Amino acid sequence: MGKSGFVTIIGRPNVGKSTLINRLVHTKMAIVSDKAQTTRDVIQGILHHKDGQVVFVDTPGIHKPRHELGNRINQRALHAIDHVDVIIFVMPYNEKIGEGDRFILDQLKDISTPVICVINKLDLAQNKNDVLRVIEQVQRAYDFVEFVPISALENDNIDRLTDVIISYLPEGEPFYPDDVVMTKAESWWIAEVVREKVLRLTNDEIPHSVAVVVTKMEENEDGYLDIDADIIVEKKTQKGIIIGNQGSMIKTIGMQARKDLNQRFKRNIYLNLYVKHESDWRNKPHRLLEFGYGNDK
Ligand code: GDP
Ligand code: MG
Repeated sequence: MGKSGFVTIIGRPNVGKSTLINRLVHTKMAIVSDKAQTTRDVIQGILHHKDGQVVFVDTPGIHKPRHELGNRINQRALHAIDHVDVIIFVMPYNEKIGEGDRFILDQLKDISTPVICVINKLDLAQNKNDVLRVIEQVQRAYDFVEFVPISALENDNIDRLTDVIISYLPEGEPFYPDDVVMTKAESWWIAEVVREKVLRLTNDEIPHSVAVVVTKMEENEDGYLDIDADIIVEKKTQKGIIIGNQGSMIKTIGMQARKDLNQRFKRNIYLNLYVKHESDWRNKPHRLLEFGYGNDK
């Protein structure tokens, strides 16, 4: 059995957290299954590795004090930070430890989760021995389990960091399949949303036999969720009704469905709908399966 667990990356702004996570997570962000509903909106990415699976989650509220220094962070952030397996604290090589860092480290003083100190921006070092001086300094601020100097920008020592992270994870099965783009439950839910809009907006002119199939769902570079779905009808005339006058009906269906999906996934959605005519699909067993009417649901 390999390792698996949840990891959060913390540190004040501009230390390189986002750059680092992009280095660590090679695969496209997976759409999480319903197993992980509770953490859905904070998953940042998943690292699939031969020795284990690392699920990176965000812990909003840790990074900076909302109003005044010394304010306790909110319950949600505390809960999140307390339930990960490993915490990565990022600190840049070229700056002294400051108030912002101390604020964050202060939040960690009552927890038992191992905290790895990542010293980033090593590429800016004139002399790599200087890193010892930095380690000495941060060592006094917190009881870290390990120090790993890296350059997120230049991809330096990221493999070593990956190994260190995995070494602190518990044994366990991966939480997500390594090729997961979306789960069956997720695509089924999207299809149902679209189908409901079709039925409602066409005032029952379209029979319940209409099927919706999600054919693509992926995250694109600007963070949008890109979804393609086919609306499949049995009669040619029904196709016309769904498209509507100059496409007005399909546009409304798309707009309303997108609104629901936005809320559910908490992010922007591109929804591309295609209307297809396929007579008699209900009598074709393989199509039934494809459309989600299999007997394993
Ligand atoms: P975040 O606010 O902690 O998420 O930091 P970002 O990942 O957005 O990085 C802040 C800035 O630091 C960006 O301009 C990055 O290009 C830069 N940066 C991140 N990692 C490195 C590094 O290893 N070396 C150098 N020189 N710059 C870095
Ligand atoms: Mg960032």
